[in-house]
Amino acid sequence: MRAVFDGAQALRVYSICSGIVDGKLRIAVKQQPGGKVSTWINTRLRAGDQVEVSGPRGRFTTDLDPSRSRHVLAVAAGSGITPVMSIVKSVLAVEPHSRCTLFYGSRDSASTIFRSQLATSGVHLR
Ligand SMILES: Cc1cc2nc3c(=O)[nH]c(=O)nc-3n(C[C@H](O)[C@H](O)[C@H](O)COP(=O)(O)OP(=O)(O)OC[C@H]3O[C@@H](n4cnc5c(N)ncnc54)[C@H](O)[C@@H]3O)c2cc1C
Repeated sequence: MRAVFDGAQALRVYSICSGIVDGKLRIAVKQQPGGKVSTWINTRLRAGDQVEVSGPRGRFTTDLDPSRSRHVLAVAAGSGITPVMSIVKSVLAVEPHSRCTLFYGSRDSASTIFRSQLATSGVHLR
């Protein structure tokens, strides 16, 4: 994502967190204390605003096959959950015979990204 502050540009990378069947591209940006772009996104960016983005790099992904039956083990921490969330959602949506186990570390429950989504999806949080 490209943001411009006082004429100077700032480039930051954000992972797509939506699944392949969600129908919308989404990112989740955790506000970093003193962080330029993450603070701008969380406090200033509004629905309808336009931002410049480059195409997805597509390096962190998995092949999907509806006939496959596999157990995916995902390990994530902090904002690193975002691409993992996309992969887990996509595997569960496209591969009905596969299952996923997620190990997810976070500093505290208040700063846990996707806590409510994981809780309402029937996942058991510890
Ligand atoms: C592949 C990849 C995927 C990513 N995906 C995501 C994602 O999905 N979601 C997400 O939230 N983040 C993600 N990130 C992190 C993201 O790219 C940014 O690094 C993050 O949002 C912080 O950017 P910022 O501009 O807010 O912070 P910055 O302004 O870059 O600052 C970062 C930190 O450094 C401190 N700092 C800045 N300047 C100084 C200084 N001069 N002296 C001391 N401290 C300073 C700031 O206070 C802040 O805490 C990803 C990163 C990578 C590499």
